[in-house]
Amino acid sequence: MTAMSRPLLGTNAAGRASAFFSEEHDILRDQVRRFVEEEVKPHGDTWESQGFVPRPVLRRMGELGFFGIRYDEAYGGSAMDTLATAVLAEELGRSTYSGFAITALVHTDMASVHLYNAGSAAQRERWMPKVIAGEAICAVAVTEPDAGSDVKGIRTTARQTAGGWVLNGTKMFITNGVHADLYCVAAKSGPLDGGSKAVTMFLVEKGTPGFRVSRALDKHGWRSSDTAELVFEDCLVPHDAILGEEGRGFYAIMRNFQNERIVIGAMAIGEAQAALDLTLAYVKTRRAFGAPLWDKQAIRQRLAMRAAEVEAGRQLVYATAWRDAQGQDVTREVSMLKAYCGELVNAVMYDCLQFHGGMGFMRESTIERMSRDARVQAIGGGATEVMLEEVAKRI
Ligand SMILES: Cc1cc2nc3c(=O)[nH]c(=O)nc-3n(C[C@H](O)[C@H](O)[C@H](O)COP(=O)(O)OP(=O)(O)OC[C@H]3O[C@@H](n4cnc5c(N)ncnc54)[C@H](O)[C@@H]3O)c2cc1C
Repeated sequence: MTAMSRPLLGTNAAGRASAFFSEEHDILRDQVRRFVEEEVKPHGDTWESQGFVPRPVLRRMGELGFFGIRYDEAYGGSAMDTLATAVLAEELGRSTYSGFAITALVHTDMASVHLYNAGSAAQRERWMPKVIAGEAICAVAVTEPDAGSDVKGIRTTARQTAGGWVLNGTKMFITNGVHADLYCVAAKSGPLDGGSKAVTMFLVEKGTPGFRVSRALDKHGWRSSDTAELVFEDCLVPHDAILGEEGRGFYAIMRNFQNERIVIGAMAIGEAQAALDLTLAYVKTRRAFGAPLWDKQAIRQRLAMRAAEVEAGRQLVYATAWRDAQGQDVTREVSMLKAYCGELVNAVMYDCLQFHGGMGFMRESTIERMSRDARVQAIGGGATEVMLEEVAKRI
């Protein structure tokens, strides 16, 4: 049977029949949703105050299979497709605790993908079972104080010696940076002005001499996600700590960005939908001028338009994930959805906070936290302007 003639088995996040999804995706969505209701929402505020997600929670996600949905069964994964990733990201985004969501999603879809896609058999056999079980948590360290959008501009160096590679440099804004066990680190193994062919990825374990977390960073949002600055000072890693081939790191980063951006888009759609849901509930009960706010056409129509835009973004995410799963080149659509969803989630948060009135500005309201969390979605993983340049090259 061709994909086009598949029966409508699955449902999307809004409970509508969707040709993109199978029964297996539905089961995953239900499992993640149940986990979020029972094991995330009751504790999210505590994690926000302490600045990280406790390790037992991540291990529990491993036990439930959420960290292995794209990985080989041989390592304990379930070998599902890009749509399953979109389901996971969307449902974690719907939790309203995006700091928690990004902690898990960096591990599964932004960092461990480097190990899985480029790692040697020995590296994969050693680490993948622990990664999937949530026993070893991953971070990816590309950004530096002087190079973010411009990945080729990184200045961390990797010099080959008789005893291995020596890393020197500083990494900035690294998610899971404080608590991770395993870091996929980009460094220049070639000349600093050597462009894309000078970049190589390395696997660095926590505790390697010369590698330290120099500080935990204090953020505007995503407060339950730990974010660090990392320093490498004559950090010696073995010859076989290279991830993939020497000089291929830039291409690995660009390839993995495609998955990362689908994830950020799906997460943004989950967040936007959750914000709309809680705002609809609020405006239907909050009264002003003798009637619920919902009776004001201006409010109703704004929310209706935002609902339409969120639905459009959701369909773009699903269609792109589906095409990615078919092995098609989706660079154009991925860049579009990252730009679109990153901006949209912020516009939705602005309106939803507005319709909560003064309460929306209070720390005790969910929408206040959500609007802080959303801000970075237009910056991290490729700023909107950078994404639009990628789109512009392809239209
Ligand atoms: C909370 C958080 C978590 C992060 N986690 C990680 C992580 O785990 N690992 C990691 O490696 N990195 C991580 N990052 C880094 C993130 O990917 C970068 O911040 C992002 O790519 C932007 O880089 P920059 O901050 O250096 O901004 P810059 O590159 O200095 O750009 C600043 C601004 O200029 C504009 N701009 C940039 N380039 C262009 C252009 N070509 N045309 C027009 N405008 C442009 C954009 O508006 C951009 O926001 C994280 C960042 C944050 C804030």
